Amino acid sequence: MAVLICACQPNKNARNGKLKVVTTTGMIYDAVINIAGDSVEALALMGPGVDPHLYKATQGDLKKLQEADLIFYNGLHLEGKMGEIFEKLGRIKSVKAVSEDITTSRFRASELYPGTYDPHIWFDVSLWKEAVKNVHKNLILIDDVNKAYYDQNAVSYLNSLDSLHLAVNAAIQEIPESQRMLITAHDAFGYFGEAYNIEVKGLQGISTLSEPGLKDVADLVNLIVENEIKAVFIETSVSKKAINAVVEGCKQNGHDVIIGGSLYSDAMGPFGQFEGTYIGMVHTNVQTIVNALK
Ligand SMILES: [Zn+2]
Repeated sequence: MAVLICACQPNKNARNGKLKVVTTTGMIYDAVINIAGDSVEALALMGPGVDPHLYKATQGDLKKLQEADLIFYNGLHLEGKMGEIFEKLGRIKSVKAVSEDITTSRFRASELYPGTYDPHIWFDVSLWKEAVKNVHKNLILIDDVNKAYYDQNAVSYLNSLDSLHLAVNAAIQEIPESQRMLITAHDAFGYFGEAYNIEVKGLQGISTLSEPGLKDVADLVNLIVENEIKAVFIETSVSKKAINAVVEGCKQNGHDVIIGGSLYSDAMGPFGQFEGTYIGMVHTNVQTIVNALK
């Protein structure tokens, strides 16, 4: 895709004095506003229900990106179709992956693509804290006038994330060990499983680019029937067609598995609602999972 790039320098004083910060996902947007409050003008390109793996920037997005003073994206190939844009914009302005500077030993290696990592880092709250620290660091780099304010907000928000991490851990332990298996449409919850001790199976791989095959469905059906798993989950940003095939397959094998609810995986709920914040999204997911499996 051809990308038109404006060579003009960011000039926040020419506008309303506020830095323009553009993020890809809602989770990153939420980190920005928790650190910067309304001292910046922040916006997310990807709203509720949007799948970042498949997302292509619109003309409107390109304009927003060109006007931004600072751009945050997830990285680790989450935004699989936007790499070229970030590379080009990175030559003229501050474009940062929030996964940057996190030691790769904390990432889950991809089984399918050697040398690449699972991008869904927001599902281990303790790991997402490192992404939030990157947001904090880069806001200060570009706007050191507000450093004290950003520092204060960062301390408070990181404390809330510590509490969230403990709360998730406690909630998942309420599920009987034999039912502690999280089955979803695509493999977004690997970090969640490792951090909170629940086995995770996704019908699709860590990206939604490829469709699951009949064998993937059959394997998952066998697993559910053998383990008498009570519930599987759909995701707000992924088609539920494939999960419905799994439910049907279980039924034909004499086991009724229910759809335990809809999880926020790669996109949060509507902005302005509890599920539209990172903390709210995690709490809502955990409540859905525990209610269906305990
Ligand atoms: Zn995903």
